[in-house]
Amino acid sequence: MALKSFRGGVRPAGGKELTRGKPIQFYLPKGDLVFPLSQHTGKPAIPVVKKGDPVLAGQVIAKADGYNSANIISSGSGKVKAIEARMTTAGVVDRCIVIENDGQFTLAEGIGTPCNYQDLTDKEIIQKIMDAGVIGLGQGVTGVPTHVKLTPAHPEDIDYFIANGSECEPYITCDEQLMAEKPEWVVGGLKIALRLFPEAKGVIAIEADKKDAIEAISSEIKGNGRIEVMPLKVKYPQGSERNLVHAVTGRKMASDDTPENLGCVINNVTTLAAVYHAVCMNEPLMEKGFTVTGDAVANPGNFMVKLGTNLRELLEAAGGLKAEPKKVIIGGPMMGMAITNLDRPVAKPYNALICLTEDPVEKADGQLTHCIRCGRCARACPVGLVPQMLAFYAERKDYDRYIKLHGLDCLGCGACTYICPAKRPLMQLFKLTKGTIAHNEAVQAAKNAEKEAATV
Ligand code: SF4
Ligand code: SF4
Repeated sequence: MALKSFRGGVRPAGGKELTRGKPIQFYLPKGDLVFPLSQHTGKPAIPVVKKGDPVLAGQVIAKADGYNSANIISSGSGKVKAIEARMTTAGVVDRCIVIENDGQFTLAEGIGTPCNYQDLTDKEIIQKIMDAGVIGLGQGVTGVPTHVKLTPAHPEDIDYFIANGSECEPYITCDEQLMAEKPEWVVGGLKIALRLFPEAKGVIAIEADKKDAIEAISSEIKGNGRIEVMPLKVKYPQGSERNLVHAVTGRKMASDDTPENLGCVINNVTTLAAVYHAVCMNEPLMEKGFTVTGDAVANPGNFMVKLGTNLRELLEAAGGLKAEPKKVIIGGPMMGMAITNLDRPVAKPYNALICLTEDPVEKADGQLTHCIRCGRCARACPVGLVPQMLAFYAERKDYDRYIKLHGLDCLGCGACTYICPAKRPLMQLFKLTKGTIAHNEAVQAAKNAEKEAATV
């Protein structure tokens, strides 16, 4: 049977061979742990500790500010060294809680106590996930708190719960390894999620080349009539919500659709593992899967790393650099961000550090030229956009036409940039344009509100 997938997309060169099949190393950091207060959508969390306070691993150090926000949990023990502005992994300055790590990782009371989720009410399950500070942990996802995703307006309309195990970005293999080594964590989280959606079928969607992961998960779900593994075609961006919904259900997402109004809830497999730990082990979100890789890294590998760990320290744990990197990326090479300073912490939404001796864009580049109207970008776009036309209007700041051509539906996946023979930075231009349009709309809304207030 043909593997399910979506229209468009690209097949970027792998890089996964550097870490594929390498066992997860559970790394305990030695240095300070740094926790930015904005690691999720919604308002920044509010610190509930102050400088000098002793802290235990698993302790809430910042409380969610509202339902769309998320708790921040200390992943280590020690004392609060500072609460100060620091550069975060997202490349912005944010207030951060800095913990002087005593290296003991002494757990707060009750952390790690097993609990049977069957004995809990749905409300208690959601509360545990909320308390644990779990958010979407998939690459490129904006960190929506998981309790929000698990409480849609009409849970009875959800007929698919999709566990996203596609991990379609090149180089990254931490999800794949998690599924292969710890399938019980992923399936355990999915079983809990399915309790909340009695009408839903569980589908674990995995790209077909992740054979060990497919085998391990298939064996874990044996005999469970509600859960199936669906191998998907290996293609980028297979893991975007729009493409997953289409591949799994055949339903097409329009620009104003959400997975929920098409009857689907999607969680990354790492998120489901965190749900399992939160509910069944009373373990809040303290660590996550992380790949350190690239041809400049001495010993690329997959890690389970404590949140707040310094990236430079983690790189040393992977043997450090064996060559001078020309490009260092946090996240995947398609949607991640180039960084120049490694003194940043591992935060919830990030899953890889990639150090490359050649800049893939520069290498393939040659010269940036004018569009040669080859149409490759339009064939690659998974949303069905015409990137060369969007670029034409974006460059001329003709935002009305950009919007009319559905430019706001751009996923920012970078498939068009990757395929473009003229090496035009299309995705970067679209990100900038969408940001400008959002900014202009916010300014206009504020002016309208001001005008309205003046006429009352
Ligand atoms: S970045 Fe946007 S325009 Fe380009 S391929 Fe992806 S969705 Fe299409
Ligand atoms: S792929 Fe590049 S050169 Fe070809 S049509 Fe698109 S923007 Fe133009």
